[in-house]
Amino acid sequence: MAVKKVAVIGAGTMGNGITQVFAHNGFPVIMIDVKDEFLERGMAALDKSLSRLVKKEIIDEEGKKEIIGRIETSSNLKAAADADLVIEAVFESFDVKIDVFGKLDEICGDRTIFASNTSSISITAIGAKTKRPEKFIGMHFMNPVPVMKLVEIIRGLATDDETTKTVVELSEKLGKVPVEVNARRQLTLGIRW
Ligand code: NAD
Repeated sequence: MAVKKVAVIGAGTMGNGITQVFAHNGFPVIMIDVKDEFLERGMAALDKSLSRLVKKEIIDEEGKKEIIGRIETSSNLKAAADADLVIEAVFESFDVKIDVFGKLDEICGDRTIFASNTSSISITAIGAKTKRPEKFIGMHFMNPVPVMKLVEIIRGLATDDETTKTVVELSEKLGKVPVEVNARRQLTLGIRW
């Protein structure tokens, strides 16, 4: 499946980093948080991070402007409606995450892939609370996202091959190194079920 537009939920440490990496690699991104002030804080962090790349001559001022130009922000979850992929990076709480995905299930089309950046919550368990467990996957970026190459791709027990393939290929397009981890491995690592 072709991913053309990405929505990132949460403008915190991970959310703004994930947004930066997608926008840097040419994807239009909508970054969503609950309050405008959190979005402003996220955009300020992202701006600072891009300025570091300008200083290191990795991009120029024009390139920085183009990257920022690909990013929209919203405090309304409905802004994720036309995304092909939604990556959730909200607080590490099962209840907060299933509340967000429950709403997204009603907002997004059936083909939209849902990914969570959770560090410790079972992908199978969150996915089972959605209407699309086969299109639910873990995309575990590392902090700081623009610097760290590794992305753990965590398959839930119901995640299908097409979703996994799409997300692995997409991670490679971002210049990352995706490593597939399945839910059983997640369990052996003592991840909370
Ligand atoms: P953070 O606290 O910096 O940011 C979380 C953001 O989510 C906040 O801006 C908050 O306002 C927003 N948020 C909360 N509820 C929301 C909702 N209902 N809708 C929209 N936005 C909402 O957290 P973080 O460090 O970015 O972590 C986010 C996720 O990434 C967590 O699941 C965490 O386990 C995972 N993670 C974190 C790190 C890390 O080093 N910080 C590394 C890998 C993965």
